[in-house]
Amino acid sequence: MDVKIKTEVIEKIIEESKKHDKLEFGGWVIVDNEEIVDVVFDIKSQSYGDVILDCKEILKLDKSVRDKCAGWFHRHPICGLSGTDINTMNQLTEFWGRCYTLVLQGNGDISLHVTDKEEGLIHESWITPEFIDEYKNG
Ligand SMILES: [Zn+2]
Repeated sequence: MDVKIKTEVIEKIIEESKKHDKLEFGGWVIVDNEEIVDVVFDIKSQSYGDVILDCKEILKLDKSVRDKCAGWFHRHPICGLSGTDINTMNQLTEFWGRCYTLVLQGNGDISLHVTDKEEGLIHESWITPEFIDEYKNG
């Protein structure tokens, strides 16, 4: 299966990353028709080693948008997925049935991992910083 990420979402993540120095940050991912259409930053606490998401910002949105929330985003300093990431991904996959995990990696890549309760990992893609530039410039 193929999953697209809207250019605006990539731009929003890059812009937001400038506000957090090297701290982890994150939020919720809105999915429409196998496309990542928005990311809603929602942080309860953050440090250089982890981030805990809140539900404040997502609850401010219309129910029609909230209903399309099917994933989470965070930036971390490593490259790949930590044990905590995999646990979180598994819990959210259990909760939603299908979970879209979007990560801004320590090397600047953006990775997307889609997991399904029945089928396991069904999609994984990596966008490199060079490609992100092209992505932004069209
Ligand atoms: Zn992580």
